[in-house]
Amino acid sequence: MADNAQPGEKSPWARGARQRFGTLLAGIWGSVTTPCPLCEARSPAGRVCGACEGDLLRVLPEGHRRCVQCALILAQDDTCPDCRFLRPAFDRVVAAFDYGFPGDLLIHGLKSQLRFTHAPALARLIVQAVQAQRLVLAPPFIVLPVPAAPSALRHRGFNPAAEIARPLARWLGGDYRTGWLQRHQGARRQKRLGRADRAREAASLYYCGRRLDGCHVVLVDDVMTTGSTLHGAALAVRAAGAVSVNGLVAARTPLLDGDRQPGPATS
Ligand SMILES: [Zn+2]
Ligand SMILES: [Zn+2]
Repeated sequence: MADNAQPGEKSPWARGARQRFGTLLAGIWGSVTTPCPLCEARSPAGRVCGACEGDLLRVLPEGHRRCVQCALILAQDDTCPDCRFLRPAFDRVVAAFDYGFPGDLLIHGLKSQLRFTHAPALARLIVQAVQAQRLVLAPPFIVLPVPAAPSALRHRGFNPAAEIARPLARWLGGDYRTGWLQRHQGARRQKRLGRADRAREAASLYYCGRRLDGCHVVLVDDVMTTGSTLHGAALAVRAAGAVSVNGLVAARTPLLDGDRQPGPATS
């Protein structure tokens, strides 16, 4: 029997069929398992297994806490040297885990061995951390990957931060935008710079090609080392008009012994 749907409008039958198909697909996908990228145990499709997830997400040595702004592990009575040093332009960072074994294997697999399935697995870990650490991200908000250095982009052919940010935006309900945040050509790679040089250079490393007036922005990166990269990116989106800037990273590099000397503030 013909229904009364107007041209271009989905009929109730078509809507119902689409819904049933979506439910069927979700059911099939939910029952699919793949090997955990860390231990190869059967896991929900595209994710690390529950045991590895627990190991990665709960590492906080006894008697320590995290800096509420940059997620660095601190002794209970320490002030955060990175935040004191940078006075970050971002509001808050959530990191899924601290850089080190075994999480570094996921990062290394994505960046050096082109294991692209690690990107959604890392994004899932970030979603778990966002929920566990109660960071409220209410849509609408814009998700911007931190651009890779041109030499890294040439070498790898892709930006790992973008690979993580794309599924992450979908699961968090944000609008993924690539190319809005840009890195100045000719800027030196941060990797080989010391802490003070990183901070100095990061302040002018990025720019936005469009206005972000009134926007809430989430910056995504794979690894946060000193925070200077995210700080530089946050400065750029704030200069473009963003009213809030949060950072989501897969891994936060812990402080090394002897790396606690504060330097001059850069912003
Ligand atoms: Zn596992
Ligand atoms: Zn901090």
